[in-house]
Amino acid sequence: MILDDWINKKIFDNKKVKLTREDLDNYQLERLNYLIEYTKDNSPFYRRLYKDIDKLNSLDELTKLPITNKYDILECDKKMVCVSQSEISRIVSLKTSGTTGKCKTIYFTEEDQDLTIDFFGAGISLLAQKGDTMMILLPCERENGVGDLIRKGLHNIEVKPVPYGLLDTFERCANSIIENKVNSIVGMPVEILALGRYIKEKHLNIKLKSILLSADMVSREIVEEIKEAYDCEVFNHFGITEAGLGCAVECSYHTGMHIRENDILMEVVDPVTKEPLEDGKVGKVLLTTLTRAAMPLIRYETGDIGALVPGTCSCGSPLKRLDYIDYREANVFYLDDDSFINIKDLDGSLFKIKNLINCRIEIQDKSKLNIKLAVLDLNNDNKDYDLLISKAKELLLNIEAIKKAVDTNQLDIDIEVEYTDKWINYYMGKRKIIYD
Ligand SMILES: [Zn+2]
Repeated sequence: MILDDWINKKIFDNKKVKLTREDLDNYQLERLNYLIEYTKDNSPFYRRLYKDIDKLNSLDELTKLPITNKYDILECDKKMVCVSQSEISRIVSLKTSGTTGKCKTIYFTEEDQDLTIDFFGAGISLLAQKGDTMMILLPCERENGVGDLIRKGLHNIEVKPVPYGLLDTFERCANSIIENKVNSIVGMPVEILALGRYIKEKHLNIKLKSILLSADMVSREIVEEIKEAYDCEVFNHFGITEAGLGCAVECSYHTGMHIRENDILMEVVDPVTKEPLEDGKVGKVLLTTLTRAAMPLIRYETGDIGALVPGTCSCGSPLKRLDYIDYREANVFYLDDDSFINIKDLDGSLFKIKNLINCRIEIQDKSKLNIKLAVLDLNNDNKDYDLLISKAKELLLNIEAIKKAVDTNQLDIDIEVEYTDKWINYYMGKRKIIYD
């Protein structure tokens, strides 16, 4: 697999005949021990955290290292940084969820960002190669922002980039695809699906070879809808800004996202006991950045709930695989003590409505689910308002938690339909359930 070759070249100087799990484990242990020493030498936060820790004898001893989370970043700020101010080339502020609106500040050196660019190039070569043209349907204007790093990664693999930015109008975007002979797109799942539904409805002459989903979590249902809209191969990707964006990407077997284990060590732990879980079991996803200089994160809680895929991928790679993320901890809404809803499941259900291009989901007064559906209507001939609402209700009631809450009169559903021939964006950034 391409990522194995990339790691073999990058880490082992092409000396391995075939990269094995043992090679990766030995390498990761060595990096971790270096990291403990490096962070203790350079960061007041880690010096205090690891005052009783020196060296790990095996990866099983990883649990000796305390788990860190977003509050550590919020409280420690620069105490986590391991390099001097002059070596920092990019600072990213991320607004945290919740009412405080505090920002997590993440620091990168130029080399840290080069690692991401390098991975983007390697990862994207799974789905686009020399001579292909990829549209970047993500913000591109800021230097070293996500779109810019992808553009640089594409340059490395001689794939022509078309830096577009976020979806603005269907017409302009589709024209750009045709004019630039784009045959691959990277972007956010719902934007890509909406554009695909427009292209299909308009019978435009656009044929892609591949799509890479990025910048937001996605459900299998949405991926199926995207495949159907474009009739092309769709690759899922996982990344978080704190870890320098790209973390894992699917190979052509589409059975989990292979982790860039030269840079990232991923674990899944029990949400309550924080004990490591075996592959296949769902829990908190933690990650350790093995090669970051400016601000290493060690056993950091990503806030995502998911699982590692058990067994070996059919591609034969020894690289571990992350399954689709189940949900994001910070954005679930509890309907009662033990049942909750999340945006991924709601989107997964509602986008089965074939001409849906977006939906806005809000919980009001803890008891009312307000849904706004943006439905593509290019010829202004909609006649199915009532039918659409009953279809949407039916799809929502397929979600067990919603059915239970509706049956016991704890939840009302209110659905509104907006017919449109234009892209309507209800969300800035990642999709979420909106509630007070
Ligand atoms: Zn594979």
